[in-house]
Amino acid sequence: MNLKNIKTKLLFWYTITIFLILSIFASILFYMVYNQNIKTVDAKLIAVANDINHDLEDRYERDFIKGFDEGEEFLIKNLYVSIYEEKNNKYNKIATNNDNLNTYKFQTFDKSKLQLFTLGSDSQKQIRVVRLYSNKSKVNLYVEISTTLYDKIHNSLNNLKIILFILVPCILVLSIIMGFLIIRSSMIPVKKVIDEVKSIDVNDLDKRIASNNSNDEIEELIITFNEMLNRLDDSVSKIKRFSNDVSHELRTPLTVLRGEMELGLRKDRTVSEYRRIMSTSLEETKQLQELVDSLLFLSNSNAIEIQEQFESLDIDEILVDIITESACLTKEKSIAIEFVSFENVKVIGHVYLVKILISNIIQNSIKYSNKDSQILISLDNDILKIKDFGIGIKKEDISHIFDRFYRVDEARSRGGYGLGLSIVKNIADVHSFKIDVKSNYKEYTEFTVSFK
Ligand code: ADP
Repeated sequence: MNLKNIKTKLLFWYTITIFLILSIFASILFYMVYNQNIKTVDAKLIAVANDINHDLEDRYERDFIKGFDEGEEFLIKNLYVSIYEEKNNKYNKIATNNDNLNTYKFQTFDKSKLQLFTLGSDSQKQIRVVRLYSNKSKVNLYVEISTTLYDKIHNSLNNLKIILFILVPCILVLSIIMGFLIIRSSMIPVKKVIDEVKSIDVNDLDKRIASNNSNDEIEELIITFNEMLNRLDDSVSKIKRFSNDVSHELRTPLTVLRGEMELGLRKDRTVSEYRRIMSTSLEETKQLQELVDSLLFLSNSNAIEIQEQFESLDIDEILVDIITESACLTKEKSIAIEFVSFENVKVIGHVYLVKILISNIIQNSIKYSNKDSQILISLDNDILKIKDFGIGIKKEDISHIFDRFYRVDEARSRGGYGLGLSIVKNIADVHSFKIDVKSNYKEYTEFTVSFK
């Protein structure tokens, strides 16, 4: 038997408990019936003893006892009567209807109380005795009435034994069957939960275990599992988001870094040229580090934790930095960046995250612009507008471009993963910035960021 299985374990202990309860119940019942029967016999023997004692009051004759008929009178089979006389601490049987019975050898005489005792250990030969000191007579007399127990008690006890021997196993078997059915049915929901949990793997952590609305421990277990799945889902999404965002965001800085290195190796350079290339690469590497740290921070922190690191920022300065860093990309497509307006705009935000937000919009503008076109930037009244002239976005796509992994048209999408704008949206939400897009398909696209 496999006691590791909770069903078997429960059934095993349940069976033992039922068996013990039934055994105790049968023993108590047996003992009570036995006692009750003894009391009935005793009552009859005492009645006979009192009757004879009463007769002894008037006369004392040595052969008084001859020809006893009390057995018939009291309807008791095998009734034995003996009278003992006490003289100088010696007890002589002076009258009896059974010469073979010598009870005085086994039990001392006691004047002060009515004596009741059973003689013999063999249940078939046991004798129940009542001994009474007779104070009615002129001499010290004891009346002793006894009878065989087997025919009066053990017969009915044997019947009880037979009934119990049949009844107890029947009840036991029935209880085990009932117990098995109850345990099995109460384990069905547990098995269901196990199967459902087993079917959930890391790719479908959005699945939840259906509640059975039972308001019991099973429902509590389901709720606990679902809460754990929520946390797991949240953590795994964060990890996935982070790894996707990192790979997306690293593309541009790595391209710039690679361009710088290739430029340096194209021909022999002077020491000062190498120094410039190395310091630009170092600057780019530092930014890569900041980028990874910021994305990790964005995916691992809640809005409040991010807001705790807010500071006063000059958007105009950040904008100039981004445009400078993108110089090699704009150069490649001969794109001219022009400022329609340029004011000092101060906002409260997270420096690296705001930089990622603006940089992503500008890089998309460069990416999706036509060659030899312009990008118009205006920065005033806490509003930044970036307008490019390129492939544009169809009306029906505009509402989706901020979704993760959404790309308008794979053929048109220039090597992106559809992540840049979802990161932009995420950062804007944390800062409560508003982002708006206007576009005419194949004409222009304009992104507007309202900082207040
Ligand atoms: P990707 O990394 O693919 O560029 P984004 O989330 O940055 O992903 O952009 C989502 C989609 O929105 C892009 O696939 C592109 O089709 C469209 N899009 C974004 N910016 C522009 C833009 N300036 N001009 C035209 N289409 C754009």
